[in-house]
Amino acid sequence: MEKKFDVVVIGGGAGGMCAAALLAHAGLKVLLTEKRRYLGGRFSTVDHDGFQCAAGGIAVQVNGQLESVCQEIGVESGVNPVTSAAYWIAGEYHEIPLEGGSLRATIKALADSEDEAARVSAAVSDAFRWLPPSDAITFREWLDQYTSNERIHGIFQATIASLLTVNADELPAAEYFNLIKAIAPLRFGYVEGGSLRLWERMADFIKQRGGEVWTRCAVAKIAVEQGRVSGVICRKGGTDVRINAPVIVSDTGPERTVELAGSTHFERSHLARLQTDLTPTTIFWLHFASEALLVDYSAIAVCGARRVNMLDVPSMECPGVAPPGQHLYTAGAAPLRQGEPLDVAAEMDLILADLRDIIPEFDSRCRVLSKSCFRGKWPGYRTKPGSPYPVRTPIRGLYNVGDACGPRGYAGSIGAAYSAKLARDDILASASQ
Ligand SMILES: Cc1cc2nc3c(=O)[nH]c(=O)nc-3n(C[C@H](O)[C@H](O)[C@H](O)COP(=O)(O)OP(=O)(O)OC[C@H]3O[C@@H](n4cnc5c(N)ncnc54)[C@H](O)[C@@H]3O)c2cc1C
Repeated sequence: MEKKFDVVVIGGGAGGMCAAALLAHAGLKVLLTEKRRYLGGRFSTVDHDGFQCAAGGIAVQVNGQLESVCQEIGVESGVNPVTSAAYWIAGEYHEIPLEGGSLRATIKALADSEDEAARVSAAVSDAFRWLPPSDAITFREWLDQYTSNERIHGIFQATIASLLTVNADELPAAEYFNLIKAIAPLRFGYVEGGSLRLWERMADFIKQRGGEVWTRCAVAKIAVEQGRVSGVICRKGGTDVRINAPVIVSDTGPERTVELAGSTHFERSHLARLQTDLTPTTIFWLHFASEALLVDYSAIAVCGARRVNMLDVPSMECPGVAPPGQHLYTAGAAPLRQGEPLDVAAEMDLILADLRDIIPEFDSRCRVLSKSCFRGKWPGYRTKPGSPYPVRTPIRGLYNVGDACGPRGYAGSIGAAYSAKLARDDILASASQ
């Protein structure tokens, strides 16, 4: 069986869905193939006992890259913004004002003296407004110059670990400032009913525009002829299907893209980067439920805990994610050292110990729904923040999208959506040349 499309998008994660929808919106005939039975990849939803739990990413930046793709193509994002947020620091909540300006106030509240507060705030302000630090030191080393106050370190660590999945002592110093500049004002929300609903709306849009979306359909090979892509071979319903297309967009990650096309087609420096720069990160995720609402904020940045860095309560903003009269919570955590061997059970015990500190009577009032560890080939982020891949590959017509390809400062689903825009722009510009 043979078919023909203008573009084949391999993988229905955030980057692939956005690329397919944007290219369909531009008038191209698009096929999106996804090997799993569901769309969304590491930003989807699974049903646990009536709770719509995040199978990966949960928080969408309000008015960020993903919402801007939705606005451009006219598809509802369904994002309900967080209406109450706080830092949790040693058992106390410090509210984060939604209109911004919270960082200076929080530093002031946590500092041991007015001098310390002024010194740290001035350093942060200079790095934003005059000159950011370089990548030669880590963020932790940068902040150590101005304070050794662990409570102040804790608020930066919670922000970095929850948004960038690495710890402050693993992050190139410049990347914190890149991130905050790129995504300010820092406001997030959750998709009503779960993120999968958004991908289903995008899939409907692609089909309305004459495209096709095939789930349970893995691409086995990207065909390359004379340095150009010519199509893919995928397995659909037990049959091998050859799809001819002059443009292929891969959301499978740069490493898998090379495997699918065959490494002999890639020039050597591209292959060398896979060894040096592709460093996937680990995230732990624990969903739990309660009948009574046990916290006052729907987004809590957890500072100074053993492992937990974020606690989201999506049911406070999106009642559709939990059965009536129940609440859904998602705790996110990162290991102390990315890239080192892990005892997953021991890490989960530390996460539970944190939750017992944060939520009084956790064991009697909460029910754990699921625990997961994202790492390796199904990671938190496909690469550590700070060394993104270009969307172009050395093979003409072959593009990468996804969270390895977001420009510096744009992480997670934000980077994945941005990479889709970059690929779309390049594909349309190349077609018009
Ligand atoms: C626990 C966790 C929490 C997170 N929290 C957030 C958050 O709150 N906010 C945020 O912005 N980001 C968050 N992230 C990061 C975010 O989820 C990811 O960065 C983003 O979803 C990655 O999208 P992607 O485009 O790279 O594709 P992926 O999600 O990696 O999807 C790739 C898709 O390709 C498919 N595929 C692979 N090979 C083939 C093949 N041969 N043929 C067909 N299909 C194939 C896969 O099945 C998959 O569906 C989180 C991640 C995790 C794991």
